[in-house]
Order: sequence, then structure tokens, then C-alpha cells
Amino acid sequence: MRVAVVGAGVGGLVTAASLALEGVRCTVFERSGGPPDVGGGIQIAPNGARVLHRLGLGPALRAVATRPAAVELRRWQDGRLIGRTELGPAAEERYGVPYYALRRTDLSRMLLHAVEARCGAGTVQFGQQCVGLDESPYGVRLRFAGGQAHDADIAVGADGIHSVVRRALAGDAPRFTGHTVYRALIPVARLPWLSGPHRITVWLGPRQHCVCYPVGRSGAVNLVATVESDHSPEGFTRGDAGRLADAYQGWHTNVRRMLAAADHLVHHGLFDRTPLRGWHRGRIVVVGDAAHPMLPFLAQGATQAIEDAATLAACVRDPGGLARYEALRRPRVDRVVAAVRERAVRMHLPDGPRQRQRDRELAGAQLSDQDWLYGWDHPPRSRTEPSDVDPDHRAVPDADGGAAAPRPSGVAG
Ligand SMILES: Cc1cc2nc3c(=O)[nH]c(=O)nc-3n(C[C@H](O)[C@H](O)[C@H](O)COP(=O)(O)OP(=O)(O)OC[C@H]3O[C@@H](n4cnc5c(N)ncnc54)[C@H](O)[C@@H]3O)c2cc1C
Repeated sequence: MRVAVVGAGVGGLVTAASLALEGVRCTVFERSGGPPDVGGGIQIAPNGARVLHRLGLGPALRAVATRPAAVELRRWQDGRLIGRTELGPAAEERYGVPYYALRRTDLSRMLLHAVEARCGAGTVQFGQQCVGLDESPYGVRLRFAGGQAHDADIAVGADGIHSVVRRALAGDAPRFTGHTVYRALIPVARLPWLSGPHRITVWLGPRQHCVCYPVGRSGAVNLVATVESDHSPEGFTRGDAGRLADAYQGWHTNVRRMLAAADHLVHHGLFDRTPLRGWHRGRIVVVGDAAHPMLPFLAQGATQAIEDAATLAACVRDPGGLARYEALRRPRVDRVVAAVRERAVRMHLPDGPRQRQRDRELAGAQLSDQDWLYGWDHPPRSRTEPSDVDPDHRAVPDADGGAAAPRPSGVAG
């Protein structure tokens, strides 16, 4: 089976590495000229970490990522603690794998290394922008901007929210959600008030919120400040520090100091799409943001792409495997997207009775509330035995034994 993956983001690279575990080789086509130099940080919750550990990335993650002790929710003007959910050892004990936070570049690098180690150098072809696909009963042909073509049995669109592959399935377009984000990595030395155990801090206020967390051993803190707005900047632009400071007038001094400490802000809009009616057609299938973009309010977009990738790899060799993949993933992703949409409203409530009710509920929040989300486990492996790759071959040594640790009973799957 020849599989072509479009896009070497988290979804594309985890698809390639997971396919290799199933004995299926693929080629990944990425439009950027080299490994994407995507800045900023990313949280990988246990449901994604479980897949990455199974790919042998446990030691690499432990080496570079932070394992935040908790998520703290705070009031916007006075920084008062609204609620705290333990992560750290509590999450590791409950779900068998940690909750990680790391730099996106580190994640991208380790995934690329894993793909090349399992599938060989050259599996990821950079500088290849897919511009369209033609399907026939015998295969699917990918067309590229330079005029080249590549034939495959299955094409996987892992090409993000502006997916070209998705066009083969639907005629929709991304729409601006009315949120823009300012992002930066800030040296932790500039934020002395952040000392103490690593944690994810979220300040909630009317129409906006602000998140920060240390990202691994890099000595940097990831900042994401969200602002509601009628307009989106064109693409990714340099953020205007003055406008951001104005937007956060009256917010707690730690927030304002942190915004002032960011000397290279990236500003962009957030986009969404209407849910796809079908995630596959014939030989074409989508994963990650190409299938189901979601606002970052639950820090689950990349993690859901990881779940998609593992599920697709487990199904792809079976007859009707793409339909099975969609049937396994769809109810799960619909639930996550619904939770994100609800959160988008609740996180930005104006001060008043609804906000006070929300804060009372958040004060009682516990890690076990997230069992349905973080407790997800891999689907059963493909029914067909892998042919040409030893599934136990681990090019990246894994101190975790290459598999997720057993989960306690009662955790939702
Ligand atoms: C502010 C913010 C914070 C976030 N924080 C988190 C978080 O903490 N945790 C989390 O799980 N998620 C988070 N997310 C969501 C996460 O970033 C996305 O859901 C995730 O990156 C989607 O991965 P993907 O592989 O599907 O797509 P992408 O990451 O968009 O990757 C797509 C890849 O395809 C390539 N590509 C695109 N078009 C083509 C083409 N035509 N031909 C070839 N290549 C192409 C692109 O260059 C890119 O490399 C956050 C998002 C935002 C905006």
C-alpha cells in the first residue's frame, strides 16, 4: 500500500510514524522548505502523550518537556485564584502518562526524527506544495506547485485548517471566529513572580483571557493572550505591543508585566469551519485541523490530531478502513469540539451572575472531570498483520517499554 501524507505538522508526522508501526510505509509532502520553524509552546495532554510514548518518544519528551504541576485559573483584575486542577504526578498516576508542555520546535524536531528513524531519511519531502488531487478507481494522483505528481493508493490530508486536500471532500472555507491571539516566548528570568513549581496559569476576564506556562528546559514561558475583535490580521503579523497593552488595561499587574516583557509578539486570527459531512471519500481522507479545526480553548487541537493519526494507522490496512476510522473518531471529536465551543463562551463571560456561577463551578473542578478526555486509549490495531516492518522495532529507545502504562479502571476511554 502506498500512502501519501500532505503536511508535516503534528498530524502528518504522527500519521507517518504510526503507519510505520503498522507496517505501512508512506511519503510525507510538506510545503515549507525545511522542518517548520513554528514558534511558541504547546501542551500535550495524556491522551496525546500516550500515543507519543507508544511511538518511543517517552524519553525525548521527558528530556525536553515540562510536566506542569497544575492548571490555575485566576480572576482578571486581582489575580485571585478561582480554581486549581492538579496535573503533575496526579495526572501521571491517573492516566499512566504525564501532561507535557514544550516548545513546538522541540516537538516538531522529535517527531521528524522518529519518522526518519522508522521510515528512512527522505520520507518527508520538503518544498512540496500540494495544489490538488485526482482520484481514479486505481489510485490517487497528487499534483504539486512545481508541476510534479505523485501516485498513491491513499492520500491523507494533514494540511491544516487551510487544507487543499479537504477541497476534495467539501467546498467550505475557514471563517474568522472573532478572536485574535498574541503569542510570544518570554525568557523566564523576566518573570520572577513565576518562580515555584511549573504550572499553567489562565487569567479569565470579560471578552478575553491570557495563558502562560513554562516550556521545557528552554528557560522560556509561552504566552497566549486572546482578544475578541471584529477583524483578523492578514495571516501572521508582528503584534503591536501598545494595542495589546490597551486591550489589557485594568488587568492584574502580573498579566500586564508579562505582556510588557514580550519583545517579539506574533498576532493572528483564529479560524473555524463547519463540521465536515464526511472525513473520507474514496481514497482520500483527512486528519487533524484539516478534518476538524477547533479553537485552542481546551489545548486539544494537536492532541486530537495525534489521536486521529493513531486511529487512522490502526484502520488503514483493513477493507473499509477509512470508514472505520471516521466511525471511531467522529463521535469523540464532536464531543471535544462541543466542549471547546462551550468553553469559548464561558471563559469570556462579562462579570455578573453567570460569571460568579461559573467561578463557583470551577472552584470545585477536579482532574477526574477530564477522564473522558485524557483517558482515551488507542483503538485495536489493524486486523491485518504488518508485512515488512517489525512492529516491535523501536528506532528511538523507549524507557517506558514503548507502550502506555496500564490505566486505572474506571477511566473513560
Ligand atoms: C494559540 C494556539 C494555541 C494552541 N495550543 C495548543 C495546545 O496547547 N495543545 C494542542 O493540542 N493544540 C493546540 N493548538 C492547536 C494546534 O496548534 C493545531 O490543532 C495543530 O497544529 C493541528 O495540527 P495539524 O497537523 O492538523 O495541522 P498544522 O499544524 O496546521 O500542520 C499542517 C502542515 O501542513 C503543511 N501544509 C499546508 N498546506 C499544504 C500543502 N498544500 N501542501 C503541503 N503541505 C501543506 C503546513 O505547512 C503544515 O506544516 C493551539 C492553536 C493555537 C492557535
